[in-house]
Amino acid sequence: MFSELIFELVREVGPRPPGSVAEKKAAYWIMHKFGEYTPEVKVEKFQTCPRALQNLIDFVVYSYLVSVFLYFIQPIFSLLLPLTSLLILYLTRFKGMEILDKFASKAESQNVIAIFKPVRENREARKLIFSGHHDSAYFMPLFQKKYLRFIPLIIKTAIFGIFSLIFISFFKFLVLEGFSFCNIKIFNYSIYDLLIYVPLVGLGSALFFKFNTVTNVPVIGANDNLSSIAVLIGLADALSRKKTEKTEIWLVSFGSEEPGLKGSRRFVKKHIDELRNSYLVNMEMVGKGDLIVLRAEKSVGAKHSSEAVKIVLEAAEKTNLKIKDSIIGFGDTDASSFTRKGLKATTVMGVNKNNIPFYAHTWEDKPENVEEKNLQETLKLCLSIIEVVEKRN
Ligand SMILES: [Zn+2]
Repeated sequence: MFSELIFELVREVGPRPPGSVAEKKAAYWIMHKFGEYTPEVKVEKFQTCPRALQNLIDFVVYSYLVSVFLYFIQPIFSLLLPLTSLLILYLTRFKGMEILDKFASKAESQNVIAIFKPVRENREARKLIFSGHHDSAYFMPLFQKKYLRFIPLIIKTAIFGIFSLIFISFFKFLVLEGFSFCNIKIFNYSIYDLLIYVPLVGLGSALFFKFNTVTNVPVIGANDNLSSIAVLIGLADALSRKKTEKTEIWLVSFGSEEPGLKGSRRFVKKHIDELRNSYLVNMEMVGKGDLIVLRAEKSVGAKHSSEAVKIVLEAAEKTNLKIKDSIIGFGDTDASSFTRKGLKATTVMGVNKNNIPFYAHTWEDKPENVEEKNLQETLKLCLSIIEVVEKRN
């Protein structure tokens, strides 16, 4: 029973926020489990920024708040500050730059790697990597089931509000600089001063988002993402009993996924030369819902390898598992660290009918809610993926 493994880890370690002693304990727990099946196991340490995601949200929302005040003092500042914060948001989320991390507190985190060599050992052997992450997230009240469907609206309202502030500030700045043709008035009031209510509504939305996503309390993170770790241990067991012919299998449990894929980024950076001829099948929250394979992660602009997606679909078909390829509009996964560097990667994820994973970042994310059947199916899928890749070599 795989779900037993999740209960065991949760009993022994509990919540595992990034960079914490508990996260480290979980890494070594997984290392020992892997060690029962292969002698080639290691823990790789790296520096993480535990609250990078929270810092980013705080930074964008507070600079928005300050900018609304600055509009009444000097509109050039309410133009430049939001532009800067949106640029930082874009570079961090879409380009993987860690700009704010330079000013934030750091901690140590760990990746765990287990390697299974094929029968026909060869330095050029294709690698197939399966992965998940063992850190757990901080509680996000907004991610509770009853609020989930409002998240896109809340984010869109906030972003629209910031852009409207930039727009209004720009024209107000021109007016103050003497461009009188921009000086439109309604009942003696500047149209820009009247329109300021639009960014104020957006600001309300942004503050609501911030206060309902940034907290200090870590959740258990059973589905997110010990479900995948349980499958990795199941895979280790299977691989110890039956070696592959020519594909080298790596099982990797990343640390510090939650603050912005820190573990997988460090892993790719460190191993890039060994990963040229590889596929990554990452797993996220596979313990509940229908499995999908990701073609893209829209909110970070990652477009995954169609070859990797095809392999997963082919493997699913061979085992009569129903899997759809799909795109997620919100959130990112460790596969995007690989995709960003031109490696062939994708993620398998369990979702509800609206393409949203279950329990993420909430109190409901406990071992009791992970379904054994899901874990078994995911393992079956992974074993089938190995067969498909073996035939391709
Ligand atoms: Zn996760």
